[in-house]
Order: sequence, then structure tokens, then C-alpha cells
Amino acid sequence: EGPVQVVTYKRFETGQLMGSVQLGLHQSIGSLAKQEDRDLLMKDFLPIVTVSFTKDGVLEKTPAHNYSEFRFRSYAPFAFKKFRQIFEIEERDFLVSLCSEPMFELSNPGASGSIFYITLDDKFICKTVQHKEADFLRELLPGYSMNLKQNPRTLLPKFFGLYCYSVNAKNVRIIIMNNLLPSDLKMHHRFDLKGSTYKRKASRTERAKGSPTFKDLDFLEMYPEGILLQPELYDNLMNSIERDCRVLESFKIMDYSLLIGIHNLDMAAKEEGGEGLGGAGSENTSLCGSDVRGGIPPLQNQQSMLERQGSIVMRDRPIAHTTALESITMEVDPSDDEFIDETDVGPEVKNVWGGIPAKNHRGDNLLLFIGIIDILQSYRLLKKAEHYWKSLFHDGDTVSVHRPSFYAKRFQTFIGEKVFRKMPSNLKPTLSFRR
Ligand code: ATP
Ligand code: CA
Ligand code: CA
Repeated sequence: EGPVQVVTYKRFETGQLMGSVQLGLHQSIGSLAKQEDRDLLMKDFLPIVTVSFTKDGVLEKTPAHNYSEFRFRSYAPFAFKKFRQIFEIEERDFLVSLCSEPMFELSNPGASGSIFYITLDDKFICKTVQHKEADFLRELLPGYSMNLKQNPRTLLPKFFGLYCYSVNAKNVRIIIMNNLLPSDLKMHHRFDLKGSTYKRKASRTERAKGSPTFKDLDFLEMYPEGILLQPELYDNLMNSIERDCRVLESFKIMDYSLLIGIHNLDMAAKEEGGEGLGGAGSENTSLCGSDVRGGIPPLQNQQSMLERQGSIVMRDRPIAHTTALESITMEVDPSDDEFIDETDVGPEVKNVWGGIPAKNHRGDNLLLFIGIIDILQSYRLLKKAEHYWKSLFHDGDTVSVHRPSFYAKRFQTFIGEKVFRKMPSNLKPTLSFRR
């Protein structure tokens, strides 16, 4: 047992859990490299590869270690490898991001008890999920894969892997997905929105946190006039959401949220005493391969160095790390989009963070980071827990419990009417979006 305070999950101490998982990931991803590449087949969604990690290790297979002996399972490893290919993640980069440095634990406002870890380079999030959710993801894979091919730039979560760490009879299932909110950029507000108003208010303990995640009712109170988007962006965003909701509905998925991180450029400028625009123009950006947090292979470092010097303006961001703006404006390369700032704060800001430009009702300039999260609850699998589903529709009729379409519709109506509005034409954006 550790000396002072030890964070635990299912009674596993975090250091041991993360350390063991990293050993498992290293072995799993490494061994895939030896497998020859080919097209994805239906049968690739089924395999579960189990490897035992004994204390002494096995020559050329698993290393010796000082943790409890464990087994590590990789679900559909080849299929996920193909997904990573589609998302344009190099296997070597994936390995380095996940295994070369310890990860950070994120505080989770959710009630599920899941733990979130984020890689030091800010690129990936590991989330512990329930048995049912893991089973559902496995079932979802063929359909998910189909959707991915048709629409790789979506607001839906990007899944890069599913694994299980097990000791004796205890299992910890982990999914690896994309991080939506850059940690180096201050989020002035963060919302988890479902389109329901029933009990959708951040708790007292949540509010007391440094960076709380607020909910629907808080949003209505804090942004009574919504968030203003330029009409073209509004249309793009709502189209993306509609397209994604159609997919979720087809899988009978409900209870998902829209996660919104809001960086207020004007507030940030004030906080920094007028120097620069809240780091948005600073060089310290994790999105173009910053080296400050370590763990990035040399090639990318060189690239970002060149970018910083301004000698080439290119955005080689893999689809895996598609920004909010790219997700909704598919053909637009954000490196070409300059934000002309007409306030006295600074001359011109490049939106290196890839946030969606917006305004609040006071006219403050905002950058938004958004995505749809927590999509592994399917009505079909959880049918028995009727009371759970009823609670989702407290403000609807009970019949709608049997209609995932109701959830999707309510979600879209709330987002499209209460959360985002079209900027009136008389409100001239100081932060303009230019093609
Ligand atoms: P619930 O109790 O709602 O079931 P949960 O444990 O399943 O919660 P999520 O709803 O997936 O957790 O996420 C909880 C919070 O974690 C979100 O509100 C958000 O603040 C953060 N979060 C989740 N996914 C991401 C992500 N991909 N990028 C950044 N932050 C995330
Ligand atoms: Ca949730
Ligand atoms: Ca959940």
C-alpha cells in the first residue's frame, strides 16, 4: 500500500493500474506491428487476444515487472488498428503517446464512477467502462466502421482501442478515444448537455471545482441568449449533429451528451493583461505537435518548428485529432482561415487551436470545442432497466422511452434552438471567419 493518499479504482491503486495497462498496451500494439497489413474483414471484429504478464516475464514477449501478475486482453486488435489507419494515426506515435510517459487522471463529474486518464501529450483519453458498455462497443464495431468510412470527420467519439486489465476475477475495461478539450488552453466554461432539463444542474461539489462541468439548466441561466454563430457555421454544425444523431438513433443509443468547452478570448486577454489573445496565438500548442510536454517523436517536432517559424503553413493534423472547426467544415483547412481581430488586443490571431469562432450575448469572442460523448448506452441492451430509461424522459411521455428517436430529436432541438443561434447580421463579428 502506498504511503499517503492512494487513488483507487475497483481497489486498484492508480499507479499499478496505469503501469500495468501501459505494459499491456505496449505489448499489444507492438505485436500488431509484426502482423502483415491487409483489408479489414468481418471476422476481425471478434477476436480477443489475451496475454499473461507474469512477474518474471517471458523472453521476447512480456517484460518482467513488479506489479501484481495480470492478464491483458485486446479486443478486435486488428480492427482497431485499421481504425487508427483511417484516423491517420501512426502506430509508433500511438505507442509513444500512450506508453512513454505516465498519464494524468482527470476529475470526472459523471455519476458512473468511470475514471479518465489523459496522455501527457494531450492527445488521447483512456476511460474505464462498464462490462455492458464494452460489450456494446464490440457489437457496434461493424456499424461504426461503416460510418467511419463514409464520414471520418464526425463529432462522434473516435475509438482507438478497447482493452481489459484483469487480476484474479477483477476486470477493468478501458477504451481509448480522442481528447476534445486542449488542456493548455483555458476553458472558461464547460458544459455537458443532453437536451433535458430534468435534474440537469451541476452539483454543489462540481461547482466548487476549479473548472466545473455545467449542465443544461446551468446553460440556460448562464447563456440565456445562447451562443451566437455565424449563419454558415451554424448550418454546418447543425448538419453535422443531425448526421451523427441519425447514426446514434439507428443503434438505439441514448443518454449521450454534447460536450462544449468555451474559451473566451476577450476574458483571456484581460486575464493576461492585454498581452496576446489568451495563448491562442502563442506557440505553445499541443495541437500542432508541441514538444513541451515530451513524448513526441522527432519528426513531428521538426514539422512544428517549421510551422512556428512560419516558413510553411500547413496543417497535417491526422483525422484522429480533427478539431471542432474541421469536423463541421469538412473541406476547410483551418490553417488558411485567419481571424481578423478588430479589437485593440492584437492584430491577427491564427486559430491554431481549431476552435469554432463564436460570440456570447455581450459580444465577447469565443472559441468553442465540441464533441458528442458517452455513446455506449444502448436502449436495446438495457431494456430491463426500464426505470432508468424513464428517468431520461421525465419531461416527455412514457411512450417515448421506447423511441430513441425522441431522445435524438429533443437533443437536436435544444442544441439548435437554445444553445446555438445564428448571429444577427447587424452584429459584425470582430473575429471573422474567412475562406
Ligand atoms: P455518466 O455519469 O454521465 O455516465 P461517465 O462516467 O460515463 O458519466 P462521460 O459522460 O463520458 O462520463 O464524461 C464525463 C465528463 O468527462 C464529461 O462531462 C467531460 O467533462 C469529460 N470528458 C468525457 N469525454 C471527454 C473527451 N473525449 N474529451 C474531453 N473531456 C471528456
Ligand atoms: Ca455522460
Ligand atoms: Ca456514461
